[in-house]
Amino acid sequence: MPNAKSLAIRPEGRRNKGRSRRESNNTLAYSRTNARATVQCAWCDRRFDGTDEYLTGRVRCARCGVATTSPWPSDEQLSAAYADWYRPESGRFSGLGDKVLRRTRSALADRLHRVLPPGPVLDVGAGDGTLVDAFVRHGRDAVGLEPHASGPHIRNAEVEDVDGNWSAVIFWHSLEHLRRPARALSHAAALLSPGGTLVIAVPNATSLQARVFGDRWLALDLPRHLVHLSPPALVSKVEALGLRVERVSYLRGGQVVFGWAHGLVGKLPGHPDVYEAIRRTEARQAAQSPAFRLYALAAAVVALPFALAATAVEVAARAGGTIYIEARREPATEESRR
Ligand SMILES: [Zn+2]
Repeated sequence: MPNAKSLAIRPEGRRNKGRSRRESNNTLAYSRTNARATVQCAWCDRRFDGTDEYLTGRVRCARCGVATTSPWPSDEQLSAAYADWYRPESGRFSGLGDKVLRRTRSALADRLHRVLPPGPVLDVGAGDGTLVDAFVRHGRDAVGLEPHASGPHIRNAEVEDVDGNWSAVIFWHSLEHLRRPARALSHAAALLSPGGTLVIAVPNATSLQARVFGDRWLALDLPRHLVHLSPPALVSKVEALGLRVERVSYLRGGQVVFGWAHGLVGKLPGHPDVYEAIRRTEARQAAQSPAFRLYALAAAVVALPFALAATAVEVAARAGGTIYIEARREPATEESRR
């Protein structure tokens, strides 16, 4: 694995400078971090050589096709990137945003609760615990893992620290944030009881929107996203762990229409950022004038029909902006493993 400490990354200095300009491109700003390029694939551990593809802020592995964020961020850089503005106590989004998030998490919990075998659920990267709370309301034991968070059902631990038997392990837009995502998945698969299900939602780095928007694609989110996955890489990894992939969706993981709206608006003069515009004032990276915010929001309204049409196209082409997977451990597989 790339080891941040061995890379002697210079203390953060440029990020804030880059972010204070609202037209700044986060991917480009991060890629200018004064540190050596990442030397190893964070997904398959291959050492990079001249055959890999060097992109802005990431390197795409010639073996597995997964891109790794480059340079590999130091712990200090990640702490700065997750500073309070990212997820303040009062919620991230203004108006309906946080309500919509809660509603969709609730719908996911309702459906999974119906199809899962009895037993507890583990949510890796639980955020403020919305999904966990939805399972608890169904009367199911649920534990969420989230660094620096607290709550009756939230633990500050890594998935590798967890043992026991779980009816589901869920990575809802969290796998791409982990320093050792493949190892986390292997451990998660071993935690599943017979009939238990691994649920994963991640951005699709080979989606149509990722290709159209390139370095400005919303879901690159450097340096918080450390790996940039493709459907074949994710599916083959899960199958190699002895699980049967029962559902792949390019819409269910969410953020697909929003990815298009954000990208289309970002192509306008001044590169307005809809994601910033819908966040509460205290959850924004940089100050935004009311007029510029209004410009971004108005543009998003105009872009919405186009975003919906583009979403329909990319989902039909099985190249949607997110990958959602459900994979089950079958009882027979469990026995043959031993
Ligand atoms: Zn690789």
